[in-house]
Amino acid sequence: MGKKNNYTKSELAEVRGSIVHGRGMFATQNIPESTEIIEYLGERIDKEESNRRGHALFDESKETGGAQVYLFTLDDEWDLDGNFEWNTARLVNHSCEPNCEAQIDEELKIWLVALRDIRQGEELSFNYGFDLEDYAKHPCRCGSENCVGYIVAEEYWPKLKKKLKKKKAKAKRKAEKKAEKKAEKERKRVSALKADG
Ligand SMILES: [Zn+2]
Repeated sequence: MGKKNNYTKSELAEVRGSIVHGRGMFATQNIPESTEIIEYLGERIDKEESNRRGHALFDESKETGGAQVYLFTLDDEWDLDGNFEWNTARLVNHSCEPNCEAQIDEELKIWLVALRDIRQGEELSFNYGFDLEDYAKHPCRCGSENCVGYIVAEEYWPKLKKKLKKKKAKAKRKAEKKAEKKAEKERKRVSALKADG
């Protein structure tokens, strides 16, 4: 197990209230591109344990309507579970237009690294990189101009956009059918009135 009483610390970032999820991490000074800002701590677990915890979270999400997912893939053998209070970096919010990226180093440590120069006071964010599978469970409110509406890894964005387009078309057809039915009912009512009169 990790360091229970040793919260992740970084001189470069601090926890503050956030408009996105209530809390987030913010740059305490100007940070140059490519800087390792904070380590994403957690417990290293094997795939079997990771699957077990993933399923437990999934069941929980069915009850509560949304579980936070802090499981990271490290390599073919190991994952990292960051769902611990002492992993301060878990408070960094997701964004569709992030200024950080989670990178794994040679020692299988995860670092949030600046994707560009970050100004003092800016909120830090990274793409959580979730699968497409349960996208509907993770709506995104990052507020960025290019927000795709859901927390999904960028590699799945084209597929997601196709799915959403289909969904929208289906909803539109349904609405049209409903309107048609209503109009038909109204026509029948009017002709019945005419027959009566
Ligand atoms: Zn977004």
